[in-house]
Amino acid sequence: MSNHQLHRSTRTLADGEILFREGDEADCAYIIEEGGLQISTNSEGTPVILTQLKPGDIVGEMGVIDSAPRTATATAAGPTHLMVVTRDQLTDRISQADPILKLLVKILLDRYRSGLNKVKGEGGLLAGPDELIAEDVVGEYIRHGIDKIRLESELKKALKEQQLKVFYQPLLGCETGKIAGFEALTRWEHPKRGPISPALFITLAEETGLIVPVGLYVFDSACRQLAAFQQAPGYGAGALFMSINVSAKQIADKDFITQAAEITDRYQLNRSDIKLEITESLAVDMEATDVWIDRAHELGFQVSLDDFGTGYSSLATLYQLDVDYAKIDQAFVRPLDTEPRSRELLRGIVALMRALKLKIVVEGVETASELEYITALGCHLAQGYLIGKSLSPEDAGELLRNPDPLTFIG
Ligand code: C2E
Ligand code: CA
Ligand code: CA
Repeated sequence: MSNHQLHRSTRTLADGEILFREGDEADCAYIIEEGGLQISTNSEGTPVILTQLKPGDIVGEMGVIDSAPRTATATAAGPTHLMVVTRDQLTDRISQADPILKLLVKILLDRYRSGLNKVKGEGGLLAGPDELIAEDVVGEYIRHGIDKIRLESELKKALKEQQLKVFYQPLLGCETGKIAGFEALTRWEHPKRGPISPALFITLAEETGLIVPVGLYVFDSACRQLAAFQQAPGYGAGALFMSINVSAKQIADKDFITQAAEITDRYQLNRSDIKLEITESLAVDMEATDVWIDRAHELGFQVSLDDFGTGYSSLATLYQLDVDYAKIDQAFVRPLDTEPRSRELLRGIVALMRALKLKIVVEGVETASELEYITALGCHLAQGYLIGKSLSPEDAGELLRNPDPLTFIG
């Protein structure tokens, strides 16, 4: 295969065309997008069909690990469209892996290959159970890895083609009963798979570093939208904020905070109307985060500690990090209506935060009685399905234009 073909990201085959032959040098894997492949092998001179693969299946996955020859022949069954996964995409990750993990991968691969050779050499019947297990386990790990690579390249495409949409969840001022701001939450509507959960694609973006460009895109969209929302009567600068999630890799990226400041200038926003939401993740060291928070403050941004109480964000963090807001996780709100002790726990947390002069946001407010309770405790902002789910920019704008947006609250 030529170098040119090696780096192509897709490949199209006509019916009956051979993708690769048993014994060919291997350099990449393929994911079937459309059509199908017949996988066959030559057993003592006789061709044996091993399996028939369909859209979504992965083929030639060992080719992304090393250059050992292909162990079977793949032939298009009808017109077929493939996505190519190159070795670089996987080896980059393996080279960054822990040395013990690398060794483990190598041992498993050797076992996989010896198992495969036994299957082939002895007519496919006599491999021992150990080798077959090794093959299954390795194959499964690699397929899982390739699946992530596929999602990663789709996410890159999604970013380029603006498939990522930012939605806006309203926050209520507990004292005023008015919308005080929004949190920008990113949505990915995949053209074929439908909506993909942020829990999945944000985690993937964080693992791969894609969160840096994704985060800038979200930051830009949310700022542009805040400037538009602040046109609504009664919600001008200083009267409506935007909370934007910032992940550990963005904090580690030395350019992000300066670029963020430039974006706010471009939209002529008050930086104090932007709250940067951070979580204490194990990936970031506290000192670096503290320095970053100082820089964010110098530039005029507000900083909020997200998911308080979930383990990633705990009591110690509260005095180590100089944040303006703390967001109490919804886990503390869920039992309020049923567990009296949880009310006392929340009361204690709020008292502590108030003593530290923090502004308090409560997440996951779903019932009127929860809102009533947190308001009585002196919390400042409420977020949750009672106030509203995340809304498209159009619906969020509609909410602001409505003179009495929360009439449904009892
Ligand atoms: P988060 O920052 O804690 O956001 C709040 C999540 O709770 C959102 O989930 C929101 O839809 C959900 N939620 C809000 N109110 C309620 C409620 O009353 N009840 C229940 N059960 N859930 C509620 P979502 O949109 O699925 O986002 C999940 C997480 O993904 C976010 O958690 C955040 O960590 C991350 N995320 C989303 N967009 C971005 C982004 O643009 N950048 C980064 N770095 N992370 C993002
Ligand atoms: Ca958040
Ligand atoms: Ca949260």
